[in-house]
Amino acid sequence: MNVIVYSTHRFEKDIFIAQNQNKHQLKFLDLQLNAETAYLAKDADAVCIFVNDDASAATLEKLQANGVQYIVLRSAGYNNVDLKKANELGIKAARVPAYSPYAVAEHTVALMLALNRKVIRANARVHDLNFSLEGLTGFDMNGKTAGVIGTGQIGQVVIKILNGFGCNILAYDKFENAALQQQYNITYTDLDTLYNKSDIITLHAPLTDETRYMINRASIEKMKDGVMLINTSRGALVNTKDVINGLKTGKIGYLGLDVYEEESKLFFQDHSEDILQDDVISRLLSFKNVLITSHQAFLTDTALNNIAETTIYNLDCWQKNNASPNEINSES
Ligand code: NAD
Repeated sequence: MNVIVYSTHRFEKDIFIAQNQNKHQLKFLDLQLNAETAYLAKDADAVCIFVNDDASAATLEKLQANGVQYIVLRSAGYNNVDLKKANELGIKAARVPAYSPYAVAEHTVALMLALNRKVIRANARVHDLNFSLEGLTGFDMNGKTAGVIGTGQIGQVVIKILNGFGCNILAYDKFENAALQQQYNITYTDLDTLYNKSDIITLHAPLTDETRYMINRASIEKMKDGVMLINTSRGALVNTKDVINGLKTGKIGYLGLDVYEEESKLFFQDHSEDILQDDVISRLLSFKNVLITSHQAFLTDTALNNIAETTIYNLDCWQKNNASPNEINSES
């Protein structure tokens, strides 16, 4: 198959080439897919996209007009693809449902620990030969209550790790997992109770109409004073302006983000020479108790190899006129 790989990062290109074993003709672009760049896929069979590529209706129409029949996502989340439209246009899509929940879960916990123990500030101080400990007091994770929203693959690994720390775990999911409940002695509860009782809240639900802005002024008001909020799922689970208000009042004591609702204009690119135009992230960056990484939770060697392997497998299935088990549609 002829495949245009959009949003290619240098760190993944060689891994893709190795996994492909010359089976498909891969053309790597560093541009994002959107309605303006869809023409670059002219005469390709498939496009390969990542989390900030835009496969909304207008883009899909252009892809179809250019002969594209397949979309392979190098991600688990697929909120950036209009699957209903893809279905109407006869374009098939497949994702990588699981590449390493450990990668994302471990990064989630890294954010928690770095915020709690002020690792970034402490390191900057020491490099400045300031060995003072003032302002660096953290808290024991042991005995604290952690609220986990979404107990799928990633949420489960987060629960396992936090269980090892000795946290009490409250969980919320649309579908409760009885085995998980038993294994780690977690308590499934309603969202209001989770907000009300958790010292740490971590988000692992997908972005859907239901979850968009689930963290907003009303839900923040229900949280404990000084709560730690972590989002490694999708930016728009959180109303960022409401979170900024929560930080200003001290209601939110710590914020760890690997995702941001306007990330597609910033993340994965070097803007160090530019004038920052996004006033919201600019305000977030002014808080000492905010830690932001640019959507790197997935970024381990294990995950990259698994992503490339499954993506090539999805293409192989279609080339052999078989369905891929990783296909997604508007019912997914
Ligand atoms: P998963 O499908 O295994 O788990 C998601 C869980 O959320 C499921 O248990 C589901 O029942 C639950 N859920 C669905 N709707 C819900 C709702 N309205 N309220 C509460 N729970 C709900 O997915 P996963 O592999 O654990 O990934 C979770 C999310 O993490 C993905 O959707 C993706 O957005 C994000 N992610 C981020 C990165 C990163 O690098 N930062 C990498 C991979 C995935």
